[in-house]
This record gives sequence, C-alpha cells and structure tokens, in this order.
Amino acid sequence: MTASTSASVSPERARRASFPDTLIRWGAFPAGLAVAALAALALHHRWMPAMAVQMAAMVAAVLLVVIAERRLPFRAAWRVAPSAERRVDITSMAVLMLLADPLSKMTLLPLVASLAATAAAAIAEAGGRPLGLGLFPAALPLPLQLLLAAAVAELGQYGTHRAAHGVRWMWAMHGFHHNPARVNWLNGFRVNPLNLLWHQLAGLGLLVALGAPEPVIQMLIAFGTVVAVFQHANADLRLDGWNRLLSTADLHRWHHAAGHAQGQCNFGAVLMLWDHVFGTYRRHDAAPAVVGVAGFEPKAAGYLAGLREAARMAWR
Ligand SMILES: [Zn+2]
Repeated sequence: MTASTSASVSPERARRASFPDTLIRWGAFPAGLAVAALAALALHHRWMPAMAVQMAAMVAAVLLVVIAERRLPFRAAWRVAPSAERRVDITSMAVLMLLADPLSKMTLLPLVASLAATAAAAIAEAGGRPLGLGLFPAALPLPLQLLLAAAVAELGQYGTHRAAHGVRWMWAMHGFHHNPARVNWLNGFRVNPLNLLWHQLAGLGLLVALGAPEPVIQMLIAFGTVVAVFQHANADLRLDGWNRLLSTADLHRWHHAAGHAQGQCNFGAVLMLWDHVFGTYRRHDAAPAVVGVAGFEPKAAGYLAGLREAARMAWR
C-alpha cells in the first residue's frame, strides 16, 4: 500500500438504522464485556478448564464483531474480503493461536515464574526481602487485585509498544501488524510471533514474576482478548462512554493512521490509563482516511515473505 496523509472522514452511515442495527450499534461492545465478565466468573469458580474458557470467550467476541461488521460496516473498503492479504491474516491467526501463544504461555511464562521464585528464595535465605513471587498483594480483595494487575500489565505493554514505534528493530517486527491498509477483526491477528512474545513477557510475564495469582492472570487474559478483538472491529459502534477508559476501535484506528505523527498515540492494549498519564491519548470525532504503513511486505507474497522482510529490516 501507499501511505499518505490521513484526513479525517466520518463513518459510513448510509442506510436508515433498523432496530437490530441500533441494538448492535449500542449493544455489541457491552455484550462483549459481558462475555468477558462471564468468562471471569467461569474462571473464578472453575466451571471449565481455563483454556476452554479463554477459547469460548474469544470465539464469542469474534462472532459478535463479525455480526457487527456485516450489519454495520464502518468502512466498506476495510471489509474482510478474499485476497492475498486475507490469506496472510488467516495464516498469522493460525500461527498465533496454535503455536506462538501456547508456546509462550506454557513455556516462557512458567520459566519467568520459576526464575522469580528462585530469586525470591535466594534473597529470603540471605535475609533480604523476597523478590519475584511474593511482591504481588494477593491478600487484597479480588476486584482490587484485578485493577492493580491490569494497571501493572498495561504499564509493561505500554512501554514495549511505545518502544516498538521508536526502536528500529522492534518497529521492523511490529510494522507487520501496521502494514494492512484496513482495520478489521481479522487483521488484528496479524502479529509477528516475536512481537507477541515480547508483548506477553512485558505484561503477563511481569505479573507472573511479581507473583500475581493464576486466576487473576487468567481473568485479565479473558478481558484482554475480548477488548483486543473489538479494538480492530470495522463496525460503526457507539463507544462514546468507553473511549475514555478502554482501547476501543475509535481510538485504535488512530493508532493505525498512516503517517508517523498520527500513529504515535493510543498505545494502550486494553486500558487507556497510561496514555492519559503519558500524554499520548488522542480522541477525534472522525476516523483517519488512510491506515497502514508503507515499506512493509508482503504486498501479495505471503506470510513467510512478510516475516522475512521484517527480519531483513531489523538487521539492516
Ligand atoms: Zn503499534
């Protein structure tokens, strides 16, 4: 694609809204949050294995967004359509879901927990204050633990996301996600596996190292998954009240705006907390006309070509 300036344009609201459309416009995102809350309850009471709960929450969020995108497309040109780009997005989603994400959660995060526990034990033996497991206030009421854990994980992820837009080799990896000239639910899954690993280490890894309880982390994952799916929705949803708090599609489209200056905002993965604190929060009534970034493959070459191009750019 060719990046150009991103003049603001309004969403397409061509036809008169029917009752189902109005319901979807106002209700789809709250319904997604209700799914996340239900998943949190299921995790808390252990109604099902955690992995099954996470998968069910993601499928439910995707279904809600797909329905919203079909009924109320925000930009017709951004629809998920048969193309080489869609093949890349589907491949990326498969690699993330079947390989990178399980690998990270089943090997890297336990490794972080183990290292933290070893460090804590060593320091406790030497008479010092325990590090690693033991620093998270797990005796607090659950809602406070969730808020604290969310703020901590978001700080780590905000930091690495901002770095990814400034450090050359990180941008080479992260640009793979910004490459598409559209923002829709499917290309939200276009993420370089290395990008996913550092994102998870910076957020979940930090919590694991601090000693946050497993159910707290699982609840955050469910909530984060739902928000992330909606974050890329190419749907004309009413998100006014949520835009102050959460990383919604209204805000995230500006993060994908073509042009360096436009994209340097709204780095939050789930919460907008640290964008408010560090002055990178941007809210506009309209959306950017052009999203994406020039200079990244693949144009039509495929998933592996895109990763190879990123690796070349990182080492150049
Ligand atoms: Zn970014």
